[in-house]
Amino acid sequence: MIGRAAIVSIGNELLFGKTVDTNAAFLARWCSQQGLRVHTCRTVGDNEEVIAITVRELARDADLVLLTGGLGPTVDDRTRHAVAMAAGRSLEESASAWRAIQQYYRRRKPGEAVPESNRRQALIPKGAQILRNDRGTAPGLLMQVDGTWVASLPGVPVEMTAMVERLGTRLPRLITGLDAPAVAELHCAGAGESALQDHLGGLLLDDDAVQVGITVHERGFITIRAVGEAQAVERRRRALHKMLQDWLLPEPGLAESLVVALREKQWTLATVESCSGGRVAAALTAVPGASEVFCQGSIAYANAVKSREFAVPEVVLNGPGAVSEECVRALAINGRLRCGSDLCCAVSGVAGPGGGTRRTPVGTVWIAVASAQGCEARQVHLAGDREHIQQRAAQQAMLCTWQYVKTLLSTRGRRSKKTQH
Ligand code: ATP
Ligand code: MG
Repeated sequence: MIGRAAIVSIGNELLFGKTVDTNAAFLARWCSQQGLRVHTCRTVGDNEEVIAITVRELARDADLVLLTGGLGPTVDDRTRHAVAMAAGRSLEESASAWRAIQQYYRRRKPGEAVPESNRRQALIPKGAQILRNDRGTAPGLLMQVDGTWVASLPGVPVEMTAMVERLGTRLPRLITGLDAPAVAELHCAGAGESALQDHLGGLLLDDDAVQVGITVHERGFITIRAVGEAQAVERRRRALHKMLQDWLLPEPGLAESLVVALREKQWTLATVESCSGGRVAAALTAVPGASEVFCQGSIAYANAVKSREFAVPEVVLNGPGAVSEECVRALAINGRLRCGSDLCCAVSGVAGPGGGTRRTPVGTVWIAVASAQGCEARQVHLAGDREHIQQRAAQQAMLCTWQYVKTLLSTRGRRSKKTQH
């Protein structure tokens, strides 16, 4: 069974934007691992009534409500009072909680008197269980509000994480039948988020058994994640897999997918880069095992190098120029011959901010991939500053190479199937 959880982050500093709410993200991940689907994350200030109303509201539709923050020793920390209010209980000083606070204080500051304000942290709603805090003074609280478990955890991240990990060991006894959720991830590249949405439609929608999330990675690919009950997740994975055929990557990353595909075929790759300044080579060589497939990365930056080392004809450089189909084709074809590799990818473009013309504005990038079967070239138009264009040019070059390899594999597959018949 997948349970339901809600998270409430408490503290005026969060509302001021002074503190970034990393606790909610941590707790959301923790819930997901425990088999709890988080349906709400709320942020509220240190206001007793607002916290109490929020807890009561969220408890109606959850198996577990996690609160973080507001358990400190100062008068503005209102979580204890709010939870007591939500549960309709009074606050009482707990002798054992006060002892634990004193012990913690004495261990950390021997010889110093325990400040009287810490006594506030020993106030516990009647009937609540105490969650031990071995990293700070604030004890956590666990109690039921309208039959739903509510856990109040400290705001200090190290205290909160240690406490919730311990709560995890008790969770099966608090909420029976929770199963760790099944997770399916599909990685794809070559289509934007909105194009995928149009193509996949309802497959990206949540239902009772599956929750779907999309992550657009800076590194130029997209991950679609389905989390939930095992059979439903598997059904969703298959449906997504079928629809995503054209864009699927075998690995989470373009460079990773390329290296894996090339290794499988024992094909080698060389690169000749201009505007991307070696970023394609850097990305590929960052993948473990790249040495089996990546043989050489050249940066042919100056026109003189393009013509001297890669035999780009002067008429090309003086005519259509270094950022042209003719140029990248020559770089890819000659780069492959020079290196003796199976494949070669070449990329040349205008990274900006200067250097653009009306015919070839900043962000124009030409990419070519050559093999013994021929050479394919493509133009892309990228937006952004210099660094962004350089990065995106490298990603596009890897994408083109990946798509080229995929086409090569599928046409070869078809051919070999034909010959088998
Ligand atoms: P405690 O219950 O332990 O007293 P608190 O929220 O009352 O926690 P604060 O003084 O508000 O105590 O926060 C303690 C520290 O924890 C601060 O450094 C604060 O930035 C950090 N913190 C509080 N809430 C969060 C949160 N949701 N995410 C990340 N950090 C947080
Ligand atoms: Mg606080």
